[in-house]
Amino acid sequence: MKKLIICIDALGKDLVSKEETPFLYQFSKKNYFAELKTYFAFTGIENSFFSGKSPEESGVWFEFIKSKKSPFKNILLRLFSFNPKIRNYLGAFAQLLKGRTYLAGVYNIPNSQLKYFSPVLKNGLWKEDFFRNKKFVFYKWPLFVRGCGEKTKIKIVPKYENDLGRFFRLINEKNSEVYYTQLMYLDKTMHKFGKSSSEAKIALKEMDIVLNKGVKKFLEENPKGEVFLWSDHGFADNFNFINIEELLPEKKEFIYFIAGTTAHFWFNSKSSKKEVFKKLKKNKRIKILTKNLAKKYQIPWDKRYGELIVFIEKGDYFFPNFYQKSEKEKYLGMHGYPDDSEMNGILISNKKIPKKLKMSEVLEYLR
Ligand SMILES: [Zn+2]
Repeated sequence: MKKLIICIDALGKDLVSKEETPFLYQFSKKNYFAELKTYFAFTGIENSFFSGKSPEESGVWFEFIKSKKSPFKNILLRLFSFNPKIRNYLGAFAQLLKGRTYLAGVYNIPNSQLKYFSPVLKNGLWKEDFFRNKKFVFYKWPLFVRGCGEKTKIKIVPKYENDLGRFFRLINEKNSEVYYTQLMYLDKTMHKFGKSSSEAKIALKEMDIVLNKGVKKFLEENPKGEVFLWSDHGFADNFNFINIEELLPEKKEFIYFIAGTTAHFWFNSKSSKKEVFKKLKKNKRIKILTKNLAKKYQIPWDKRYGELIVFIEKGDYFFPNFYQKSEKEKYLGMHGYPDDSEMNGILISNKKIPKKLKMSEVLEYLR
């Protein structure tokens, strides 16, 4: 049975409607619709979908961990650190040299911190069992991967390809059992302009048109094919911008990573931990991740992610951070907050599924 699996990044449950997304709406009425309970996670969500494990079970939560074996300890990276574009290419190259196939960007991670971090995933998701025993195509631009059993072939698509291009490149690969790609434009637009912007509305309509064309073509060619349209998380507008860097001591006796909704610290001494703790507590919007909260959110309690981890809730956003630095990059919309139904994703399928599922529970219906 052929399976088409499309991730529509950032399509929250509240964004599917008769007016804005007529195709998706009709398709879900004719077939099955589930709300997917998401996790307070980033990299961990897609991983949960295909591994069937929560971030707590798999250990995959945030994109980076502190590691002595960072692939970014590379002399070329240091030499070209003045040019962000070359630095990013070299970052990818350095990961490939180490035999890694999950390629993380280096974003705006300061040169002083980059050498302490490794992407938590070493391999692309196509190495998960779900793909391994099938004939598949897996397309996450720029990587286009064909696989059959243990054999995989990775091709690089050098020129940027939009969602429609991605969809059709994927399904034009006729001889496969599983087809997987991710549509990214909606996520990108809502980050940049906000969830309630007119740009987001247009992006939503365009996404619906892409899905309409792609799914129709797939089902024409494979009338018995199974279709799974899912999203990893919803979205929220940002109202409060918190400059966490300004709160931190000037003398940095710690290693740190500031992301959009979390900040992670590893300390040289007990006194530096105390100092940071005290300074961050001054801002009441900043919450401390405790062992109990980690358990509640089903995320790993693991020092590789930080000896101290703080986070914020919906509407707040750490800016600047190690992903977005300049005003031009500043996000007006964000995701990755704990325990909030606006953050939940969806699954629409022509295969029978329950009305509510956790991300990690989808796998048994995919098989
Ligand atoms: Zn995003």
